[in-house]
Amino acid sequence: MSSSASKSNQQTLLLLAGDGIGPEVIAETRKIAEIVAPDLVLEDGLLGGASFEAHGEPLTAETLDRAKAADAVLMGAVGGPKWDGVARDKRPEAGLLALRKGLDVYANLRPAFCFPALSDASALKRELVEGLDIMIVRELTSGVYFGQPRGIETLPDGQKRGFDTQTYTSSEIRRVARVAFELAKGRQGKGGAFPGVLSCEKANVMESGVLWREEVTKLHDEEYANVPLSHMYADAAAMQLVRKPKDINVILADNLFGDILSDEAAMLTGSIGMLPSAALGDPGTPGLYEPVHGSAPDIAGQGKANPCAAILSFEMALRWSLNREDAADRIIKAVDRALTDGARTADLGGALSTAGMGDAIAKAL
Ligand code: NAD
Repeated sequence: MSSSASKSNQQTLLLLAGDGIGPEVIAETRKIAEIVAPDLVLEDGLLGGASFEAHGEPLTAETLDRAKAADAVLMGAVGGPKWDGVARDKRPEAGLLALRKGLDVYANLRPAFCFPALSDASALKRELVEGLDIMIVRELTSGVYFGQPRGIETLPDGQKRGFDTQTYTSSEIRRVARVAFELAKGRQGKGGAFPGVLSCEKANVMESGVLWREEVTKLHDEEYANVPLSHMYADAAAMQLVRKPKDINVILADNLFGDILSDEAAMLTGSIGMLPSAALGDPGTPGLYEPVHGSAPDIAGQGKANPCAAILSFEMALRWSLNREDAADRIIKAVDRALTDGARTADLGGALSTAGMGDAIAKAL
């Protein structure tokens, strides 16, 4: 069945398992999907190294079209040493960047949520992270990672000069800020000293930071005056995250600072094998959901990978793209239950296989 034909009457999720542990964690997610959303049409496609091997491209035009026609896209992971020598534009990671760009997903959502059973797995003391529930909204398609000009040039005196450009337009700031405000509206009661949106930049030393603060404030005053808004310099936010993380509800940051703050927040919650993410574009367009981890070549094919990050990414797809909050809530409860009952893969200090962990969550459902 073509995805566009299915879209008219049924919801479609395109699964792009990718490389390394990607297919292993997506197989467990499929198990869960078949239980909580049996009517959801699951399609499969190739991405990354798997697509390069089959078609000579890490993302084909046909796969991108199928992604655009789906209601949501769930990716496993891409990459691996096998493709290290491949031209940059044919690398697995280039396929992922092209997919994000093709879907125009500009808001990256990364929850830092601590399951009670894992409160001791954090790098911080239990009392600092127990009950932690932060959402980080990172701008994903602009900023210093994309700004022009950029390059490495040779100066007249023979030394080299590397340069990048940090750039944001008003509309780029406003559209991602809108996502953060909308999220905060649905997350009332979370956080402490910063109960709404905490917008982070470096307005003290960067012009783009000054504009960021201005535009976020303007949008807030125009449309979201009842959502609490605070501003903080990104370096101070980095300290706040390890000092009193439970004070924070929603963090809003640009591409660079969001990258760093979300990785820092991730470590508050234990293993990378637990961390999901979503990338969203305009309302009504398909979101791209993916575990934060990579293809983990060191454990690929050994049945050791923790499938929770992929399963929780599916949970986010149910919530943010498929409007199936009940099914999403069931998954959160089942993962919590499985962990409370002691289910652990090796990264969490246990001995369960990837399939064993998937089965434990399926059983809890
Ligand atoms: P990685 O996330 O793949 O692995 C880092 C460490 O975490 C490894 O020790 C790995 O075994 C462990 N790990 C990762 N996921 C796990 C899971 N689900 N369960 C248990 N342990 C897990 O990062 P890396 O080693 O830097 O990169 C490996 C490859 O993945 C590279 O080719 C990289 O480019 C690619 N990558 C892809 C993505 C993506 O697809 N979004 C993200 C990051 C890295």
